[in-house]
Amino acid sequence: MKVMKFGGTSVGSVNSILSVKKIVESAGEPVIVVVSALGGITDQLISTSRMAAMGDAAYEGAYREIVRRHEEMVQGVIPAGETQTLLHYQVNELLDELKDIFQGIYLIKDLSPKMSDTIVSYGERLSSLIASRLIQGAVWFDSRTFIKTEKKHNKHTLDTELTNRLVREAFKEIPRVSLVPGFISSDKVSGDVTNLGRGGSDYTAAVIAAALDADSLEIWTDVDGFMTADPRVISTAYTISELTYVEATELCNFGAKVVYPPTIYPVCHKNIPILIKNTFNPDAQGTVIKQHVDHTKSKAIKGISSINDTSLITVQGLGMVGVIGVNYRIFKALAKNGISVFLVSQASSENSTSIGVRNADADLACEVLNEEFAKEIEMGEISPIQAEKNLATVAIVGENMKHTPGIAGKLFGTLGRNGINVIACAQGASETNISFVVDSKSLRKSLNVIHDSFFLSEYQVLNLFICGVGTVGGSLVEQIRQQQKKLMVENGLKLHVVGIIDATKAMFSRAGFDLANYREELKEKGVDSSLDTIRDEIIGMNIFN
Ligand code: ASP
Ligand code: MG
Repeated sequence: MKVMKFGGTSVGSVNSILSVKKIVESAGEPVIVVVSALGGITDQLISTSRMAAMGDAAYEGAYREIVRRHEEMVQGVIPAGETQTLLHYQVNELLDELKDIFQGIYLIKDLSPKMSDTIVSYGERLSSLIASRLIQGAVWFDSRTFIKTEKKHNKHTLDTELTNRLVREAFKEIPRVSLVPGFISSDKVSGDVTNLGRGGSDYTAAVIAAALDADSLEIWTDVDGFMTADPRVISTAYTISELTYVEATELCNFGAKVVYPPTIYPVCHKNIPILIKNTFNPDAQGTVIKQHVDHTKSKAIKGISSINDTSLITVQGLGMVGVIGVNYRIFKALAKNGISVFLVSQASSENSTSIGVRNADADLACEVLNEEFAKEIEMGEISPIQAEKNLATVAIVGENMKHTPGIAGKLFGTLGRNGINVIACAQGASETNISFVVDSKSLRKSLNVIHDSFFLSEYQVLNLFICGVGTVGGSLVEQIRQQQKKLMVENGLKLHVVGIIDATKAMFSRAGFDLANYREELKEKGVDSSLDTIRDEIIGMNIFN
């Protein structure tokens, strides 16, 4: 038996949900299918309820759009007839309830968290209902009856023990296809509708897979799997075929939105492999996540992840050296205020501790820390605490780093050679992740140089700006054009002309120019050239090598 989870985009359009049908129906074993809301619906439910709560009558139009999406889906996937009529009736019933709730909120102008949780639950209730009618022989299950949460630190957290027991009871007999709404749950005491947090459908699927000792967990999404780096920044990034649970956790905790981070633990605990697959490209191999991976075949690092949204807060002062409890107080003050810290770095001299938080948390973090250390600051033992904002954090991840000397050297050497300043760094003793903080403006360049140095070692890229394409410069360009292929094949050197400038025109391209007809291109597409624009463009591109 396996559990298959389909995300919002997979059930977001008529064509994609028809692929889901095909994928599920061709599985050769019993499957439990977990679905998200139709892509974008959770956001729409949230924004519509906010509009209603603010007394904005435009909420009605937003509600009608939600209705339209679901009606279109019912009509698009189920042929006209008895089944369609019945499904229409059931979908409308749910949508009518939703309408009444929105109206109530509009009249009272109040939106409690409980109301909000009820409203978002309609997304998965609707999508799972539609999918259960579409997929042959599917039996619908209500996850609110077996995924149970309890309130801890003002947050709904899964009651694992109770949930495991209820899941086993609910699935005492496993039909050929079961259909389960992801994300939604209920409070174990009050029975109120709750949820597992944004992106929580993955977690629903993992919890069910673990409780029932499934053979595997498949997460069907809209990308081919975990990538070596963000493909929007690194055009040469590729899919990683195998990862360990630890590596996947490191990568998804940090930017790569392939799976919801809490998903990995329950299945890892039971040693159930996770397979990441693309609904839009089902033939692609995907990424397998499991306990052991043959590391001898893979590179020194598995992937690079990054988040742009970083502020660094440094608590420093000579008065901190050797004093016991400073870190305890820092983390206690932050935790009490619900601020999550994702990077910590303290030098052994103990006179400063730096922590990385999201930009949105930075002001509050400074405020609570300044309050916590008010006395020490007044005495001059600790400096007033400020945040350095608009930074980015990058992490290189891989279990091969363990006991392999030279990885940090290669990393920081590469950054240094490219003029990238490292503001803070951290490596845990588990040696599966090295994280560092740079200025946001250097993020793209950092990712490029690291990807280049760890993954594309077959050749090196050299980016060239050529100023002056008269007799001498023009011959140089021609020589480069003629030699480009040979240098790449024989010397592992890729010459990329990324800027061409003459006395009147200038043009720039990260991807590099085709040197066969650059003169025409320069004439047609070039911008006016002046020393200032050239300088600004070159600095602005911040390109590597
Ligand atoms: N629909 C929910 C969300 O958008 C849960 C999920 O998609 O996993 O966050
Ligand atoms: Mg989603």
